[in-house]
Amino acid sequence: MVHHLQAQAEPITEHEDAIRDKLRELNVPALLMSIVHMTGDTGVLSRVRAPRMINVVEASAGGEEVLEGGYTRAEAEQVHEELLKAIAAYRARGCTLPELDDSVSAHLYEYMCGHELDQQYLDFIREEIALDGVDRRGLQLETEALKAAAADFPVVIIGAGMGGVLAAIRLDEAGVPCTVIEKNPGIGGTWFENHYPGCRVDVPGHSYSYSFEPNHDWSCHYPLADEIRAYFDRCAQDYDVKRRIRFNTEVEAARFDDASGTWEVTVVDGEGKRDTLVARAVISAVGQLNRPKLPEIPGRDSFKGDLFHSAAWPEGLDLTGKRVAVIGSGASAFQIIPELAGCAAHLTVFQRSPAWMFPNPGYHTPVGEGQKWALRKLPYYSKWYRFWLFYTSTEGVYEQTQADPNWKESRSVSAANDVMREQLTAWIESQVRDPQLLAKVLPTYPPFGKRILQDNGSYLAALQKPNVEVVTSGIEAITETGVRTADGRLHAVDAIACATGFHADRFLFPMAVTGRDGISLNEQWSGTNGRAYLGITVPNFPNLFCIYGPNTNLVVAGSIAHNAESQVNYILRCIRLLLERGKQTLECRQAVHDAYNERVDAVNAATAWGCPQVDNWYKNDQGRVTANLPFRVIEYWQMTKQPDPEDYTFR
Ligand code: NAP
Repeated sequence: MVHHLQAQAEPITEHEDAIRDKLRELNVPALLMSIVHMTGDTGVLSRVRAPRMINVVEASAGGEEVLEGGYTRAEAEQVHEELLKAIAAYRARGCTLPELDDSVSAHLYEYMCGHELDQQYLDFIREEIALDGVDRRGLQLETEALKAAAADFPVVIIGAGMGGVLAAIRLDEAGVPCTVIEKNPGIGGTWFENHYPGCRVDVPGHSYSYSFEPNHDWSCHYPLADEIRAYFDRCAQDYDVKRRIRFNTEVEAARFDDASGTWEVTVVDGEGKRDTLVARAVISAVGQLNRPKLPEIPGRDSFKGDLFHSAAWPEGLDLTGKRVAVIGSGASAFQIIPELAGCAAHLTVFQRSPAWMFPNPGYHTPVGEGQKWALRKLPYYSKWYRFWLFYTSTEGVYEQTQADPNWKESRSVSAANDVMREQLTAWIESQVRDPQLLAKVLPTYPPFGKRILQDNGSYLAALQKPNVEVVTSGIEAITETGVRTADGRLHAVDAIACATGFHADRFLFPMAVTGRDGISLNEQWSGTNGRAYLGITVPNFPNLFCIYGPNTNLVVAGSIAHNAESQVNYILRCIRLLLERGKQTLECRQAVHDAYNERVDAVNAATAWGCPQVDNWYKNDQGRVTANLPFRVIEYWQMTKQPDPEDYTFR
């Protein structure tokens, strides 16, 4: 299987009039880049001003339309004219591209980002855009000796979601044999399990995919769960790693054997049959959000109707005309509620704390045919579009998340965060007429204190339907017939959907993982205090690697697919170190791990999600942020580019 690293654009065959019709919705910054690729000339960049980042509120405010990159409609049309000329020249050359020298590329990068870039970003873009078509994230083993050593390095991967499939693809390419253990009957992890009504990703699909396997056919900008699951399934199929997966099988325990320096992984299949696999390394790709957390509410088991978790939505359940309760108002509830409001006879939303939401009119919008055409046919458009999504979602909001130690206001953490609070407040106020409801749905904690949700207006519209009630009085008990709240009311319902989140602070739970000298991972982490070096390696656990491990969740923001690629890149290079040195194991040095975690804790504590006045799933039960990466995504990319052998003890 060949990676789609090079932007192998399909030839453009359409008539100019047909092309003109497709341009309206295209991303102007990416179009400008494509023009330079087609013409080999940067002239257009002096005729059109550089893009600027606009915030979400500006983008959806009334008045004159502001397009991505801060362009007006007239400016976009100027770019379209330039594009049509560039296409004509490109076609006249038989749809071949001129060579771009390095200085032109560097100019492109800086123009796109709107300012001079430091070397780190230039390197990142070079890798991501891969103008030379070189795959810098895989593992190429050059010598026969290394290849033979790789073939004798069996790896067990736990989980066939985004991270596990990625690891399998990359190991397979490198000639490292792997077996993937997957508890579900299918691929996709969280996207396999979560199929509640309205379930979709809240990161654009064009960045929520592997960099080497772009999907130009996403039907929506924020695709529904089924489509995402199908994407990962197709990747596993196309890269021929499905045969490596043992479905309906769960890892019960993984034990490092000191004598042989190998891992023994005990698995149980759907029929309860146990088996032990011996591996040189174990990669955990179980995710942070895979163990549903039902609320501990007295009487929960006495309820006579349907009570279930959002991630275990009963197959075929029809709630049309029923009285339904939703407990929770986080990301899952936010998607479920508009769906149920449209079909339930009555919907009661039990909200403990309201969510902040970004205005995003395109949240449910299908991807237009013009965009799909451009992704396939305009040279490098898809790469630059992906980069644009990454850059604006990371650098665009980082500053607003950082706490100012001198800031006194509890509803925000800095002046920049407060500006965002005011903008997001205005967005909520613009949608809610009833002051009592407004008081309920307006958060009093800082933006980014919990995950901010993508909103096209459907959530607050749903809450204002006559058949919907928002209850903020605390839940006291669940009875046989409904939910009783602290104000003494009994809310009679036929079904209760608990969108109450996951055991996010119990990494690798409930597997029994034992490292060298019989050390239990669960004990090392005191149950809920997961720590790892770079979120990947753990002292006392040689050759154990985590994808999406402790402190790797992204708030600002990029896409977790990007982070998974950084982690797999790092793991591959750790394996390479072992093969080159002829060593059995590597183990992270305690001091390196501790120093890293001190930094993690210090930086996390100075963010909107780490500040003391907020409570969220990013923090563990002792209030330490165990889920989130506190650094810029670009910094993490740099940290995971290449392992430093000095960080490890080799045996
Ligand atoms: P969550 O964000 O942890 O939300 C859980 C909700 O349940 C919160 O509103 C919480 O209130 C409430 N809750 C918990 N226990 C409760 C109790 N005993 N009584 C009353 N309310 C209770 O969980 P989630 O919505 O499943 O989302 C988790 C994460 O999954 C998200 O942040 C996101 O990263 C990911 N996710 C992503 C998408 C997407 O991409 N679109 C969709 C779903 C989930 P408090 O806030 O007061 O604790």
